[in-house]
Amino acid sequence: MLNTSIEYLKGVGTARADALKKELGIFTYFQLLQHYPFRYVDKTRFHKIKDIINDSEYVQIKGILRRINSIGAGRKRRMTAIFRDDSGSIELTWFKGLSWVQNLQVGKEYIVYGKPSIYNKKLSIVHPEITLLTEEKKVNASTLEPVYHSTEKLKTRRLDSKGLALIIKNLFVKIHPQRNLIPESMPKYLLERLRLPERYHAWMGIHFPRNKVQYNMAQNRIKFEEFFFLQLRILQSKQQKRTGIRGFVFNTIGENFNEFYNNNLAFELTNAQKRVIKEIRYDLSTGHQMNRLLQGDVGSGKTIVAFMCLLIALDNGYQTALMAPTEILAQQHFNSILEMAKGLDLKIEILTGTIKGKKRKALLESLETGEIDILIGTHALIEDPVIFKNLGLVVVDEQHRFGVVQRSKMWRKNVTNPPHILVMTATPIPRTLAMTAYGDLDVSIIDEMPPGRKPITTYHKFESQRLWTFGQMKREIAKGHQVYIVYPLIEESEYEGLSEVKDLMEGYEVMLREFPRPDYQISIVHGRQKPADKKIEMDRFARGETQILMATTVIEVGVNVPNASMMIIENAERFGLAQLHQLRGRVGRGGGDAFCILMTGFKLSADGRFRMETMVQTTDGFKISEADLKLRGPGNIEGTQQSGILNFKLANIVQDAEILRSARNIAKEILANDPKLEKPENSPILNHLKSTQKTHGFGLIS
Ligand code: ADP
Ligand code: MG
Repeated sequence: MLNTSIEYLKGVGTARADALKKELGIFTYFQLLQHYPFRYVDKTRFHKIKDIINDSEYVQIKGILRRINSIGAGRKRRMTAIFRDDSGSIELTWFKGLSWVQNLQVGKEYIVYGKPSIYNKKLSIVHPEITLLTEEKKVNASTLEPVYHSTEKLKTRRLDSKGLALIIKNLFVKIHPQRNLIPESMPKYLLERLRLPERYHAWMGIHFPRNKVQYNMAQNRIKFEEFFFLQLRILQSKQQKRTGIRGFVFNTIGENFNEFYNNNLAFELTNAQKRVIKEIRYDLSTGHQMNRLLQGDVGSGKTIVAFMCLLIALDNGYQTALMAPTEILAQQHFNSILEMAKGLDLKIEILTGTIKGKKRKALLESLETGEIDILIGTHALIEDPVIFKNLGLVVVDEQHRFGVVQRSKMWRKNVTNPPHILVMTATPIPRTLAMTAYGDLDVSIIDEMPPGRKPITTYHKFESQRLWTFGQMKREIAKGHQVYIVYPLIEESEYEGLSEVKDLMEGYEVMLREFPRPDYQISIVHGRQKPADKKIEMDRFARGETQILMATTVIEVGVNVPNASMMIIENAERFGLAQLHQLRGRVGRGGGDAFCILMTGFKLSADGRFRMETMVQTTDGFKISEADLKLRGPGNIEGTQQSGILNFKLANIVQDAEILRSARNIAKEILANDPKLEKPENSPILNHLKSTQKTHGFGLIS
C-alpha cells in the first residue's frame, strides 16, 4: 500500500502529483510520509494577553470573544473584536472575509493564533487564526503544528505548507485502518528495550504530534533508525571485506624495510608508531584485503608510518601508490619520500594533472612495466590510463576530501585482487564522522607525539597590537630562533591570482622597515616564483641564514625547520580551523617553547571569533576537529556531501551524537550475535535492508 502512486491520494490527482514528483521527488505514499516537517509552530502553550508586546513572535491565546465592531465603509471597512482572557484584552482586526467574521459567536471561548502588531496605535492581531474551543478541542487542544518545505511551483497548486499538511492528513486517514499491515523495520524486542514507538506512531508523531513527549519519541525513533540502518550497512560491509575479500599476503620483511629501519631512521619511533606499524603489518599478512584508517594529530609522525608500509609492500614484490588531495600536498609528499628513501634503490615518481605529453607517456609506460616502485600523485591516479603492473598497497591522504566512492576506484587498479588501502587524514577527524563517513574502515590511532614537543602557546591579536607582535618576534630571534609569517592562499585555482601575493608583498615592505638588514634577513616565498627561486629562499631559511620566512601558506613549501619557534598567521580569520591547526603544527618541533600569533582584523564574524578562541584554548587536534564539525555542520565537511552518506532526513551527527553512538553499539551487538541476521526476531531488519538496498549508495563500496 505504501508504494501506491501519490496521484491516487485524496486531494492530489494527476496535476498535483506531477508537481510533487518534479519538485520534491515524491512519487509514492511512502515518500510523502518521509517528507518530514522541518519545524513546528508551537501551539502547546498559551500566552497571557498581558505578556504580549509589539515585538512578540506568533502567540496563541485562549479566551472569550467580546464585542464585534464594524468600522468604516466600502473598501475601507474593517471589523474588530475584543478578545479577553483572565489577564487582559487585545484587539483582533480583519480587512477581509468580513461576513465570515460576523458569524463568530460573542461570549464563547476561542483559541486565537497570530502575530501581534500595532494597528491604529493599538496592539492588535490582524487576521488571526481563530477556532472555537469545542469539547473535543479541550481534550487535545495543544499541538505542534508542522511546517513543511515547499516550492514556488507547488504553492501555485496550493501545496504550500498547509496544503501539504492537508494531503498528509488524508494519507493518515487512508492508512489508519491498515496500520497493522505496515511492515515494521525494527524488531519488537529492540523497540521495547529502547522505548521507541512503532513505525506508524512514529510517523504520526513526527507529522502531527499531539504533544512534545509524543514528538520527542517519534523523533528519537526516526533518528535512531536512520543511524541504525546506516551503521548496519557499514558494519556488514566491513565484516564482508574483512572475511570475504582476498588480499595479497605480505609476509616478508625485506631489504628495503630493514635498510631504512637500521640506517636511515634518524630517531626512535614512538611506541604509538610501533604499535600502529604492527597492526598494519598484521593486516597485510592475513590474506584479506586491508582497509584501514590511520589517524593522528598534526606532527604525530604519520608520514613515516605510511612510508614504512610502502616499504613492506615493495619488499614483497608489489608496486605502491600514494594519493593526495591537492597538487601541493602531492608535491610535498614526493619531496619527503625522496628524502626518506635516500640510499634505497627505489624508483619514485610523481603524477599530477600538470604532467602532460611525452613525460606523461613515458611515466605511464614505466608504471605498466613495473619499473616504478612508488607513484605519488593527485586524483590523476584514479584515471583509467593509469595502469600498474602489480599494485599492492595504496596510501590515501584524505583531508576529508575523497570519500567512499573515490576510495573504491583505487580498488580496481589491480585485476587479481584489490590492493590494500591505508587512508590517512591530515588532521584528526571527529569520532562521529569517523563512525559514519569512515565507519567501514578499521582504525589505527597514533596517540602520542614524538618526544620533546611542547604545547604551542597561542595568542589572538588585532592589527592595533602589531607592535606587540613585532616585540615577540624580536625576542624569539634574539634567542637564536626563527619565525614564520604566513599569508592566506585561498584556493589552488587562485594560484595565478595576484591578490594574496600583493598582501604578502605589502607585508614584506613593512617587515623590511621593522627588521632591517643587515641585522635581520628575510626569506620570501610565494606561488608566482619560479621553483628554483623558491628553493633558494627556502634553503636559506632552513640553513638558518634568514630569521624570518614569509610565505603564502607554509604547507605549500612543506618545510620542517626545528629551530623555528614562532608562527605569525596573517588574516587568520580567512583560514578554517583544520588549516590553522595544520599550520600551527609546523612550529614547536625543536623541543623549546613555541608560539603562534593569530592576527585578524577587528571586525570578526561570530564564526571567526569562535575559531580564534578555539585555537587559543587548545592544541588538541581531536578537540579542534570536533569544534570544526560543530561550526560547519556535517554537510560542509569536504568529501562527505558527494558520498551521500550523511544525507539523513532528521538525524544530525553533531546534535545527535549520542543517538549515533547508541545506534552503532546496538548494530554491532546485533551483528555479533547474528552476523547474517538470520534469527527470526531479526527478520524485520533483514527485510528492511533488502527492500532499501537499491536506493542506497553504500553498495558501491564492494
Ligand atoms: P604528520 O603526522 O603531521 O604527517 P609528520 O609525519 O610530518 O607528521 O611528522 C612530523 C615530524 O616529526 C617530521 O619532521 C618527522 O620527521 C618527525 N618525526 C616523526 N616521527 C618521529 C619520532 N618518532 N621521533 C622524532 N621525530 C619524529
Ligand atoms: Mg602529514
